[in-house]
This record gives sequence, C-alpha cells and structure tokens, in this order.
Amino acid sequence: MADDTGELEARLAEQDEFAPPESFVEQANVSDESIYERFEENWPECWNAAAELIDWSSDYETTLDDSNPPFYEWFTGGELNASQNCLDRHLDERGEEVAIEWIGELGETRRYTYSELHREVNEVAATLRELGVEEDDVVTLYMPMVPELPIAMLACARIGAPHSVVFAGFSAEALTTRMNSADSEYLITCDGYYRRGDALEHKEKADEGVSGVDHDVTGIVVDRLGEEYDHPMRERDHDYDELVAEQAGATVAPVDRDAEDMLFLMYTSGTTGKPKGVKHTTGGYLAWVAWTAQAVLDIKPEDTYWCSADIGWITGHSYIVYGPLALGTTTVMYEGTPDYPEKDRIWEIVEEYDVTQLYTAPTAIRAFMKWGTEYPDEHDLSSLRLLGTVGEPINPRAWKWYYTHIGDEDCPVVDTWWQTETGGMMVTTLPGVGNMKPGSAGPPLPGLDAQLLDSEGDPVDNGRAGYLTIQKPWPGMLRTLYQNDERFVEEYWSEYSDTDSDDPDDWVYFPEDGAKVDDDGYITVLGRVDDVINVSGHRLGTMEIESAIVGVEGIAEAAVVGGSHELKGESVYAYVITEDEYEESDDLHDAIVASVEEAIGPIARPEEVVFTPELPKTRSGKIMRRLLEDIANDDELGTTSTLRNPNVVSDIQQKVTDN
Ligand code: ATP
Ligand code: MG
Repeated sequence: MADDTGELEARLAEQDEFAPPESFVEQANVSDESIYERFEENWPECWNAAAELIDWSSDYETTLDDSNPPFYEWFTGGELNASQNCLDRHLDERGEEVAIEWIGELGETRRYTYSELHREVNEVAATLRELGVEEDDVVTLYMPMVPELPIAMLACARIGAPHSVVFAGFSAEALTTRMNSADSEYLITCDGYYRRGDALEHKEKADEGVSGVDHDVTGIVVDRLGEEYDHPMRERDHDYDELVAEQAGATVAPVDRDAEDMLFLMYTSGTTGKPKGVKHTTGGYLAWVAWTAQAVLDIKPEDTYWCSADIGWITGHSYIVYGPLALGTTTVMYEGTPDYPEKDRIWEIVEEYDVTQLYTAPTAIRAFMKWGTEYPDEHDLSSLRLLGTVGEPINPRAWKWYYTHIGDEDCPVVDTWWQTETGGMMVTTLPGVGNMKPGSAGPPLPGLDAQLLDSEGDPVDNGRAGYLTIQKPWPGMLRTLYQNDERFVEEYWSEYSDTDSDDPDDWVYFPEDGAKVDDDGYITVLGRVDDVINVSGHRLGTMEIESAIVGVEGIAEAAVVGGSHELKGESVYAYVITEDEYEESDDLHDAIVASVEEAIGPIARPEEVVFTPELPKTRSGKIMRRLLEDIANDDELGTTSTLRNPNVVSDIQQKVTDN
C-alpha cells in the first residue's frame, strides 16, 4: 500500500465525526435544523408535508386516525393513484426526460422517458384488465431486474390491483407459499435472465411453483432470453409482448384508490425465520417514500440516482421505483452483479451515467473494500453527490472506506436504518443537517420518536445496549400482516404495549433490533435482539464484536456467533474473511483478539477464530448466523435453501473440524 494511503487511513481512523460538506449543504433539499423542533411541535400534522409531495384526486380529511391502535390510518378520506403520481403528473414538464435508465448485464441498455414509460404502463394495465384482473386482486410478479418489473408494478397500481413481488432468486416453493397465502390468481414472470454472463432459466422454476398453487392461475411471460432459451409455455400462459402489442396505444384512467387501500404486499427477507406478509397502503406509503427520498437521498428531478438493490426487496420498491419516480427523477436499474464482467462494473456505470447518488448495502461495500481501491480509482466518480447504505449495520472502517474512496471525502454518507415493515427510512442523519458518525445510523428522522428500553420497558442509559422501540405511528408503517391481524399485534406490538388499551400512548412498535444511543441522540443499531451471546452471564451483542473485528486492517468481514461452552455457557466464535491482499496468519489472529478485548473487554475474547473465504448469506445479502451457530455447536444444520451460496457451509464445517 502506498504511503499516502497509509497516512490517510491513519488520519481517518482517529476521526469519529464528520460534518456534511459545505457544497452539499448549500444545495440540499433539507438544510434547516429547525425541522426537528417544528415537526415535534406540530405532530402529527407535520406529516402533511409528506402528503404535499404527492397528488391527491380527493383531499384527505384527517392526517392521522388513531382511534383503534395499533390499526392506525393516515390521510383518511383522501384518494389518489400511485401510478398517476409516478407518471402522469410528470408528463407536461418531464415527459421527454429519462425515467428509467436500464443497464443489462451483457451491456445492452434500455432507456424509458416518462412518456414512454407512461405508454407501456398503460398498455400493460389494459392487458391486465383484458385478462380479467379487477381492483384488489393480488398480482404476483416473479421477475428479475428487467424493466417489465417496475412497469408491471405501476400497471397494477394503475388499476388498483395490489402487487406481490417475489424475488426471482427465491425457490419454486417460496412462490407457491406466497401465491397461496395471497390468493393470487395472476402471475407475471420471465423466461430467464443473465447472471455473470450465463443465461439462467427461470420459467421452469415458476411452473414448478405454480403447480403447487391451490387455485387456477393466469400467466404472462416476458421473453428476456430470446432465442437463447426456448421456454415452455403452458395453457395458462400468455406472451407479454403479444398481449402488449394488442393494446398498443391503449390508455387506462388511473383508478382512485382510498389512501388506506393496499398498494402492495411484500414478504420480509426471512433472515430470522418465516417471512411475514407485510401490507402497505397507497397514501401513507407513497407519501413516506417520496418524503424520505427527498429529505434523505436529496433527490431532485434532474438527478441520475442509483439504488443498487433488487426490486424484489423493499429497498427496491421504495427507492428504485416509488420514491424516485414520484419525485420525477431518473432512476438507474442494473440487471447484473457488481463484479461482472469486471470488479469495476459499478464504478464504470457511475462514470458513464454521471450518477449523482448511490444507495447500496454494507455487504457490497465490504466486498468493494476487499477487492481493493484500484477498481474505483480507475474511474471518474466526481458526479457523485451523496452516498447511502441500508440493510445491516456498517462498521466504521467500511464507512470510512466508502466516504473516502468513493465519495472523495466530499459526499455525505447516510446510514439508513429501516425495515420492510416501516416502508421507508426511519433512523438516519439528514445529509444537509447533521454531522455523521461512522457506525451510527444517526438520530430518528424528524417527527419520529425512537427510544431504547430495557426488558422491563424502562429507558436505558446512554451508551448502554437496549431494545429499539418506536413510540408513535408514522405514515409509511405497515398496516397489518396480510389477513392476519392477530399475528401483526403479536409480532410487533405485544412486547411493550398495553394491548388492552385504546389509548395510542400505550402502544409501542417493537422492531426486534437492539441498539444503543449516545448523548447526541445518535442511534447505533447492534442487530436483531436474538443475535446476543451470553458469556458467563454477560450479554454481548454479536454486531459489536464484529465491528471490533472488521476494524482490524486486513479483515473485510466477520460473523460472530455463540458456541456452547462447558464453563461459560457460551463462547465467542468468530468467522472472518480477509481482504484480497491479506492472508490468514497468527498476527491477524492476535490483532483480532486484541481489538475485541480493547473494544469490549476480555470477556468477549473470541474462543475460536475461523478464517474462511466466504460467509453464508441470504439472498438479500445478510449473514445467516444461525447456520454458523449450528457449525460452532456441531449441531445438525438448519435449512440452507434460502442461501445464495449454500456450498460454503460444508467448507466452513471442514475448517472448523480442522482447527
Ligand atoms: P425477517 O424479518 O423475515 O427476519 P429481515 O428482518 O432480514 O427478515 P428486512 O425487513 O429486509 O428483513 O430487514 C430489516 C432489518 O435489517 C432491520 O430490522 C435491521 O436488523 C437490519 N437493518 C436494516 N438497515 C440497517 C442499518 N442501517 N443498520 C443496522 N441494521 C439495519
Ligand atoms: Mg425483520
């Protein structure tokens, strides 16, 4: 490593607070810190500011109806249509501007202006009607990152049919369960797609999924692979292009949806167990994603904004499709993987399209870091104005790497904590207002009340770990679990609420994450509450230990779990991945142990440090700690079917046995 890089890293290692760059603040959508006070004083009407970002065909009467907690209703009496908000209202001023900039893995591109997108969404909406889809019918979309996916979502929204997107990487069985659970009679899918240059066949998996569905299904099939794959068509199937051609030029008036009508159904990623069918509504959700996209991602119509998530996750719903399009900006959609054909693919796209904001995940940032700075260094990234992360806690070293090597110390980094259930961002700095503290997401957004409680429900002292809770409702919140109000209350509201009360003050939302807060009110999310190890009676958060480990130079990623221990109850097992130019060594081992002892104390000292080339990850990129726990305890392995890389598990097992 060159000397100046060493000096830079050393300087940054010392710094734990960063002010937003002046040049950013000057142009930021939100730069007045009085917003926190104003929102607090004017709650819940402060959220009218979010509702004002969208068009209503009938005005709402009440901002918040909290008469039946926790079944809150927002902007009641209002009517709107999400597709109209994402398309029609932009046509006059931005009709010829780019709405979606699509980049295929093999290098092909497709560009949709707002008028082109509007046209195709209308044709697909007409197609769905023609096939018999009625308002409130759930349409399942089992599709990879092709433009037809957001088009189908907006077409559903146009006719008031809620969509349920099933991530294309999920199994046939996952499709079956979701279609059955939602009584969904319509499926839009795809013949296949590309991954690392290979054509992946998707249609047969979709067929297998449908074969388990307990009712009739009508299918529409997008032909992505063309001659490369002669995909099977069943009697129920229709070809997307043919149907749409039949509707060429058709227009469908956007139906008026009640603010509280369902916009979509989305299952959580299932990191901790069985996925939950989260219901989001039209008014509150759209207002929430538009407002957060404006305030936190600083989106302006003239931007070229890129969120690298998959639309099959909530992040893609909120911040590739609905938020950016509601604001009339250009949203980039990339089909492929970040290291194909080369490890500079992301930076090549940023340079070529002059991307202004990049929103990605810590797992991706750690991979970039592991690959090395030469890849971003080859490209001009000066178009970037803001960087964001979501999905997992980001350790300070990765944060600083992102800030320095991608943002050139000139872009604020927003570390956004939120969940499928929250609809959009909840805890993060406002990039034009607050200082950033690497590793800490920041304060709750204005108008949100987040508090840390102990298991008794009492507030915990600053600096101590506690349970994150949200004390007041917000517009983007889930309304229930699909057709299961009981489980909704049980999952999210039973822990800290007085469930017999109809006073909203007695109801507290529990996201099931642990966190700590500092004297400035900045929240550091430590991870799921069940990711806690009990060593000799001390409760240690796995995230905190992991953060200490990845703070060691040369370590790219770490996962910590508890292995059973005769004397201590549990002991700390650390699985670690080195950066590309480093290798397993006694020195690294000792540095890891020292770093943990220094950060947390000798009690957290890892009993085992296992160097491994990969960690088991879910399809959304989250580490599957429960499998690592099974390995540590030599237990029978739980299911690996939701893993992106199931093969690594036996490799790691072998390593542990050898150690
Ligand atoms: P399931 O609920 O089915 O187990 P999941 O929780 O992984 O799945 P998501 O809704 O996609 O499904 O993930 C939300 C979770 O991701 C949060 O509860 C939190 O644990 C984690 N998370 C998201 N963003 C951040 C962040 N910026 N910092 C720390 N953790 C985060
Ligand atoms: Mg969750």
